[in-house]
Amino acid sequence: MPIAPHPQSTAPLETLPYLSGGTWKNSSTSRTSDVFNPSLGQAIARVPLMPAAEVAAVISSAHAALPAWAETPVVERVRVLFKFRELILQHFEELARTVTREHGKTLVEARASVQRGMEVVEFACGIPSLIMGQTLQNIARNVDCETIRHPVGVCVGITPFNFPAMVPLWMFPIALACGNTFILKPSEKVPHTANFLGRLLVETGIPAGVFNIVHGDKEAVDTLLTHPLVRAISFVGSTPIAQYIYETGTRHGKRVQAAGGAKNHLIIMPDADLDQAVSALQASAFGCAGERCMAGSVALSVGGISDDLVSALVEKAGKMKVGPTDEGQAVDMGPVISRDHLHKVKSYLDIATQEGATLALDGRQTQSSALSPQHSNAFLLAPSIVDHVLPEMRLAREEVFGPVLSVVRAKTLDDALAIGQASPYGNGASIFTRDGYAARQFKHRFNAGMIGINIGVPAPMAWFPFTGWNHSFFGDLHIQGTESVQFYTQQKMTMTRWFQSAADSHIDPVWRSQ
Ligand code: NAD
Repeated sequence: MPIAPHPQSTAPLETLPYLSGGTWKNSSTSRTSDVFNPSLGQAIARVPLMPAAEVAAVISSAHAALPAWAETPVVERVRVLFKFRELILQHFEELARTVTREHGKTLVEARASVQRGMEVVEFACGIPSLIMGQTLQNIARNVDCETIRHPVGVCVGITPFNFPAMVPLWMFPIALACGNTFILKPSEKVPHTANFLGRLLVETGIPAGVFNIVHGDKEAVDTLLTHPLVRAISFVGSTPIAQYIYETGTRHGKRVQAAGGAKNHLIIMPDADLDQAVSALQASAFGCAGERCMAGSVALSVGGISDDLVSALVEKAGKMKVGPTDEGQAVDMGPVISRDHLHKVKSYLDIATQEGATLALDGRQTQSSALSPQHSNAFLLAPSIVDHVLPEMRLAREEVFGPVLSVVRAKTLDDALAIGQASPYGNGASIFTRDGYAARQFKHRFNAGMIGINIGVPAPMAWFPFTGWNHSFFGDLHIQGTESVQFYTQQKMTMTRWFQSAADSHIDPVWRSQ
């Protein structure tokens, strides 16, 4: 089914519209931010940085749509999501190409991310059985007690650049299925994908105002965080902003779930299957150009395996084909998101050598030289592997969010666990071993919320919550899975007592006279 194009889509550098009350609108602001194609290193569109008054008007339309949507029978709400899933499938390739064009990940990675997001829609289609309440009969003579789940109201999602389709899809399908209305504020770096999802949702026939999109920066976010009609906020992004969102949102009386940054450790035991471990480490550290909150960032090699591990990693990562992705090129790794980010990631390689670590593979040296002229400004950096990193070095402690893998050499599993435990983050961690006891020790003791055993990226699928710990998550109920259902609903308890006859009643007769 054809999807209506955006207004202004023929303009050379269009300014993207926002979605409010079922209508695509152009912002009145002259404040905009450029959206880049990282494979070209060039701006391809502008996104409006919407002013507070415009965002407040969108909140009002989401609030106006709330009573009717909350009263819509749950089976009708999920029919909208079934239709949405069909439309995602019909436009799957176009959606993946949109992700690749504005984010830079390979088409294979973009497809996988759309698939993961679509699975959340599938999860949300099962909401009728997930929002059922509980009943306990006869808690006292003739008294029954039950709970039912209500929507919480207007919900907001504020999302990062690194998964333009998947992370928004973690949020709004579940929120909408639960009977809430929703406002998405995508990253200003990747707004096309969000608008694409919005167009598909509009195409389902979802009532006007139930799903809305605002574009912007801190001003838009602050309006969402403080507006009295917003009831719940889901956030995914860096740790300092996650903490700010959590503190500001809760101070204004809202439910907040805020997922932050990460520093993920991968322990390689001396008995690990080296080939398997190296393949998993390569995919974990360099998949999506390292721009994943579940990317392996520090390899903790235990005992005598380190030299073999580093040389196998260097050999494998050094062969990765790095290049532009915007025309579906068959490369293993695409560009990073922006020029600034490219400089930041490269600067970590300088910092590492200044601090005494060894560059076993320098991604700045191995960049592709056969780029076509139009791709000569691509934000490319090949994989880097830094050996002999010490736990106190910045590279071992800070989130790099690029294709850089540090290797820290540890004597024992206990040492490796202690190094990992010292991290303030707590998203993911993995161990590679054939030893069940070591794996069990690791699983039990490691201070992170998502654990992998012989798995490089232990990111849960839609049916499980995304259980980051420590500075990787602020809040109580995590994003995805059944915790999300709890987050987007509030329970009401009803206690009921019926009397066999008026004579049994202890209630004042005045209440029975009707
Ligand atoms: P970011 O924190 O810069 O931006 C995230 C969102 O916050 C964007 O929508 C942005 O517009 C908004 N924002 C940015 N600065 C703001 C401010 N000062 N006030 C209010 N809002 C602001 O994150 P990013 O660079 O887009 O994404 C990368 C980060 O996201 C990494 O740290 C990564 O680890 C993290 N991430 C975490 C998870 C997870 O599940 N824990 C998943 C994906 C990404």
